[in-house]
Amino acid sequence: MEVFLDNSASTPLLPEVIEEMYTAMHLYYGNPSSIHKPGRIAKDYIEQSRKSIAEHFQASVGEIFFTSGGTESNNMIIHRSVLDLGVRHILYSSIEHPSVLQAIQYHRNTGKHIIPTDDLGEVDYNRLEQTLRSLVGEPTLVSIMHANNEIGTLNDLHRISAICKEYGALFHSDTTQTIGLEELRLDQLDIDFITASAHKFHGPKGIGFVYINQRNSIRPMILGGSQERNMRAGTENIAAIAGMRKALEISRTKQKKHRTHIHRLRTKLKSGLIEAIPNICFFGQQEENKFLVKILNVGFPKSNQTDLLNLQLDMHGIYASGGSACSSGVESRSPIIQMLDPTYRYVPIRFSFSILNTDQDIDFVLSTIQNLLKN
Ligand code: PMP
Repeated sequence: MEVFLDNSASTPLLPEVIEEMYTAMHLYYGNPSSIHKPGRIAKDYIEQSRKSIAEHFQASVGEIFFTSGGTESNNMIIHRSVLDLGVRHILYSSIEHPSVLQAIQYHRNTGKHIIPTDDLGEVDYNRLEQTLRSLVGEPTLVSIMHANNEIGTLNDLHRISAICKEYGALFHSDTTQTIGLEELRLDQLDIDFITASAHKFHGPKGIGFVYINQRNSIRPMILGGSQERNMRAGTENIAAIAGMRKALEISRTKQKKHRTHIHRLRTKLKSGLIEAIPNICFFGQQEENKFLVKILNVGFPKSNQTDLLNLQLDMHGIYASGGSACSSGVESRSPIIQMLDPTYRYVPIRFSFSILNTDQDIDFVLSTIQNLLKN
């Protein structure tokens, strides 16, 4: 038996998504920039997809731009905010994704202000407000993720948005982990930029989008042709766009059902582990509605038996994550876990779920872990 519980790193494609991509590859072979019929058909498909995605978030079509995913979208926003919108200061949490952190570090002459999180990983809203107050009049960007990719703690975007509005700061949120599972209505949330990656919600890799609120006018990061209304040059990846569109449409119609299923599996694994393993801990928020349901980051009390637990699980066909798959390929202790457990009392394993997981998966994980830790 094989159980994939690393859905925060990436999710398997749904059959309907593959079908849509397959059809798109057959039908939309023309270059969308060509003016003949195959070109026009391809272009029309792309624009229909943009419309479908914009509707999902109650945004306007002109605010959605396709990119290669979360990394590119985050880079685009950070760089262009500094270069085109005159941003002089950036406020961000220390546990942002490397594609945000490194893009910020790139700007040597921009003021950098780290907003701390509490020990559950939620940003300190009061510190955010104090820092913004001290910068009034300075063009400022706040970049705070919706859910952290390792521990799943959610930040309150409405609260951050209200603070940013009060002090006139731009607000970007890396929503890469939450899109598809958390409802995001951009007509009800005053935000400047959000970023997405399809492979986190059962779409293909190498495609995502950025939402840029129409009040902001930025210039392209990739220069060349006039694709994406001059915002990102390069012939569009139509099959990938098709897959992302389909994956998002599925999540729109089934979001509630999917959340309930995933939440139930998370609770089942968590209760089973609590029952089986003394002194186990869980990293990040555990209070209802304050965590992303797909993530359960477990701290196994450190011992000779647990030291290599993730590797042993791998050998038994259970795939989870010990560090962050994005940052390495090598399972190293991540900065967040280092912050939450500085004396190294626990061995962390992040289990992350999808709609494709079943009760049998969880039973298998629980019995395997119990057997491994018994020997
Ligand atoms: N931001 C977050 C929070 C992520 O989890 C990831 C992917 N691990 C990214 C950005 C990067 O997305 P992509 O893989 O599409 O480049």
